[in-house]
Amino acid sequence: MIYTSYEMIQDCRANRPEGWSYFLTNYLPVVRQFLKHYFPDRAADQSLLERVLRVNLFQSLDPAPERTFVAELRQHVLRAVEADRASAAPEISIDIETLDAALEPLTLTEKLVAWFDTMYYAASDTGRMLRMSPQTAEKIRARAAELIRGSLDAWRSSVLADNGPLLGQAASALSTKDCLPAKAFFDVIDGRTTWRGREEMEQHVKGCWHCLDHYCRLLEVVDVLRASKPLPEAEAEAYKRLLGIEAPKRSFWKR
Ligand SMILES: [Zn+2]
Repeated sequence: MIYTSYEMIQDCRANRPEGWSYFLTNYLPVVRQFLKHYFPDRAADQSLLERVLRVNLFQSLDPAPERTFVAELRQHVLRAVEADRASAAPEISIDIETLDAALEPLTLTEKLVAWFDTMYYAASDTGRMLRMSPQTAEKIRARAAELIRGSLDAWRSSVLADNGPLLGQAASALSTKDCLPAKAFFDVIDGRTTWRGREEMEQHVKGCWHCLDHYCRLLEVVDVLRASKPLPEAEAEAYKRLLGIEAPKRSFWKR
């Protein structure tokens, strides 16, 4: 029998131990990875992870396929950490309108490369996620940096990363009725879409930072899940005790 993320979300929403047990084993490593990547100086703080886990993310989550769930989980983790203690304000600010105007000459792929910079990814990671060489990704980043530099009074090489959390929040607030569901992006990522479907998707996303951010986050999810390994059982048990999750009642064994 296959236990799906739909069932896991339903079980967690109803506070059934089966759901939480599955979540801890399979997705706690993913939560840790997001913490390590986005908050490297805070990731070692064990109590932060506990606080993040205690904010009940499942109440606001609809049952969804695994990758869509993980993309939402990422948003939840970032929000919870920011709510716990907000990141420092950037020394040099760039808003999404300025970024949009500066990067107007770029293609969709080039914009995706630039956006991964706001998500703290190095050119090598960006290259892996977009299936291009790190050198190509680096060249595009340099071009984007020049365009941005030309549109700001003050500039530093980390300006996109420094503004990452604020740009991410701004992008996520920009959704329109034409914005695409996660499935449309996964169809492209998995090669299930037609040439025409892909063309239409790209046309919209090139001009929509909400979808561009969404697309990048889904590519990130694919990458994170590929590298993720289940939590060892002893650790999973320790987290269950910590969160007060009882062992599932296996009543069907006592027939
Ligand atoms: Zn959109």
